[in-house]
Amino acid sequence: MPVLTPAQQQRQAVRLAQAVPGLAAAYLHALGRWAGDPVLRLLGLPIVTECYRSPERQDELYTHGRTAPGPVVTYKRGGESNHNRLPTPALDVAFLLADGSVSWSGLLLSKFARLMKAADARVHWGGDWPEFKDRPHFEVLS
Ligand SMILES: [Zn+2]
Repeated sequence: MPVLTPAQQQRQAVRLAQAVPGLAAAYLHALGRWAGDPVLRLLGLPIVTECYRSPERQDELYTHGRTAPGPVVTYKRGGESNHNRLPTPALDVAFLLADGSVSWSGLLLSKFARLMKAADARVHWGGDWPEFKDRPHFEVLS
């Protein structure tokens, strides 16, 4: 399993501190289960890529696939996403692989989603949504 540099660890801590306590706790629990599993740990290391997102950044993302090139990545404008609240009930996950690259593998995310939902039954996974599947996305709604 890849190891984070101290600077990367610091960024992870900053992002997790933006999350509502229940979500941060569920993530840390799932991360611990993943790291403690001899098979899963070989696949990569879960990382939080985004937690709080400013309304300005949300508006910028909204242009993707509309007025800017690339695929549509969100249907929410600035202020409409759960990522725009602070503390935020939403976080996005990817995987750091052994070769240093970052993966958004749907298979890895579905395995991690199982651990997140087991950690806290209030966790919703974007991969379970019926229409726009947002597999990196997890949220806790109270
Ligand atoms: Zn998200």
